[in-house]
Amino acid sequence: MASKKSSPKNRGASAPDEQIFRLMFEGHSAIMLLIEPQTGNILDANQSAVDFYGYTKSKLCGMTIQEITTLPPEQVAVERQKILNGKQKYSVFQHRLASGEVRVVEIHLSPIALHEKQMLFSIIHDITARRQAEEALRESESRFRALFDQMAVGVARIETQTGKFIQVNQKDYDIVGYSREEMESLDFQSITHPDDLQADLENMEQLKSGTVREYTMEKRLIHKNGSIVWVALTVSPMWVSGAVPDFHIAIVQDITERKQAEEALKESEERYRTLIEWSPEAMAVYQDGKLIYLNPAAIKVLGVISTEELAGKSALDLIHPDFHQMVLARIKNSTDTGVSAPLTEMQFLKVDGNTVNVESHAMPIVYNGKPSMIVVFRDITARKQGEDELKYAKEKLEAANLELQAAFEHEQYLAHTDVLTGVNNRRYLFELAEHEFEVAKRYQRPLSVIMFDLDHFKQINDTFGHAAGDQMLESVIQAVCAQLRDVDLIGRYGGEEFIIILPMTSAQHAYPLAERIRISVAALRVKTSKSTVTVTLSIGVAEINHAAQDTVVENVIRRADQALYAAKQAGRNRTVVFDPNVTGAT
Ligand code: GH3
Ligand code: MG
Ligand code: MG
Repeated sequence: MASKKSSPKNRGASAPDEQIFRLMFEGHSAIMLLIEPQTGNILDANQSAVDFYGYTKSKLCGMTIQEITTLPPEQVAVERQKILNGKQKYSVFQHRLASGEVRVVEIHLSPIALHEKQMLFSIIHDITARRQAEEALRESESRFRALFDQMAVGVARIETQTGKFIQVNQKDYDIVGYSREEMESLDFQSITHPDDLQADLENMEQLKSGTVREYTMEKRLIHKNGSIVWVALTVSPMWVSGAVPDFHIAIVQDITERKQAEEALKESEERYRTLIEWSPEAMAVYQDGKLIYLNPAAIKVLGVISTEELAGKSALDLIHPDFHQMVLARIKNSTDTGVSAPLTEMQFLKVDGNTVNVESHAMPIVYNGKPSMIVVFRDITARKQGEDELKYAKEKLEAANLELQAAFEHEQYLAHTDVLTGVNNRRYLFELAEHEFEVAKRYQRPLSVIMFDLDHFKQINDTFGHAAGDQMLESVIQAVCAQLRDVDLIGRYGGEEFIIILPMTSAQHAYPLAERIRISVAALRVKTSKSTVTVTLSIGVAEINHAAQDTVVENVIRRADQALYAAKQAGRNRTVVFDPNVTGAT
């Protein structure tokens, strides 16, 4: 209708009445104006135009198009010309309504000739609402872009078929060091580490086929500077149309630091593992009472051939039953207190059933959240053997020492003792007597000497034989010794003459002792092969004289000898105490 073809010359007989066109014009819901091209006068307006502009029809038809356009007239003319030249289908203007409100309109112009006059038929679309919506969309898009760019994670929209980056946020291109423009000319394949590309592509295939709704992986990207960036990647499809997604959204998070820390941890774990595996100390780890690890040194000690042998072994299976109770008590104590069990020697059972001496200690630990125990042990068989040998050698040495000592003591005994009677021999008696004499002299203590001789002993020998005489002599000395104190010293002076040294004893006190000796000997009945024999003693007693005459013990002994002689003279079987006035004279 609004074209050159609607010119009057085309009207045929079959054409509808002109009235119809008027009604169509009037009743059309589109806003329509008929404009005079030179002046811009509005020649006609339909009801929609009247309603839209808010003027009466007669008022509107008296106005120019310039009057309702907010643009300067020259610009209106320029815009109009663009359409008339066919350069533009329509122009967008702002029209002011009667109410003063300004609306955005899209104007389609068609030049027409009517009654030989050129006119412009214009159809006007109110696009204010559309424009507002577009504006709102633009705003929300820019808001979204700001948000998109400020996100802490990298976000990229990627064309699924090609892998090209269509849109990337700032964080995304910052992670790999490119500019937005550079990034948007790349595809994800070219910045993915070659070693991770295959896995990523496989994931992508699954995503395309719909096997997975999204995927997450850790992979390496190549930074613009060539360094490696570890990222956690989550990819989800963006369905626009069709069975295969057109785009997908990749969210990346830089995890380089975490990866480096993990690497460092792995490295240090590796280091510890090496240490433990090379350690000469045997180590075992138990959890819930079951063996879960043995290091090579432990495997060697226990003679384990394969780790299968250990499956289900308990802590006690490898310990000799004699030590079970102690070990259980220690485990309980360690677990309760968290303190290591002290180093203990015990016996472990090897896999072949043999025992092995070990020195072991246990530390409670928490491993994988469960209470566990590290047992460190060492085969001490060799050390034990060494110790045993040492102990044996020591015992041997001690035994030899004892023998030597006994031999020495026996030697001493022999050197000091009279073989027949067992009392001190003459030489040793004088040694001891001298010592006692010196002590008594120094501290002005009393000291007495008893000397005795068997009466008519020659006769006994002659009658009963020398052996019987020896036997007699022994019995006499036994009887004498029974009367002595520990401090008293007795020795053989010669033949059948004996001396007793009595420290701390005056002659007055020595006399009754001498008498007890004499009486006990006289009471002796010694059985010989022939008959029972008796014997008596003659005894002389003398004491130390502190009034300067005595310089040596022999002085006192000599006086005792004199007293003994006096006893013999007086008829034998008696005790005489030395008296200078009596004995000394004889
Ligand atoms: P007495 O002393 O009473 O004057 O008479 P005695 O016969 O005992 O005389 P004397 O003391 O002089 O004699 C010592 C005798 O003692 C000499 C010796 O035959 C004997 N005799 C000395 N030592 C031993 C000895 O060890 N064994 C024996 N069987 N006899 C001894
Ligand atoms: Mg005699
Ligand atoms: Mg004699």
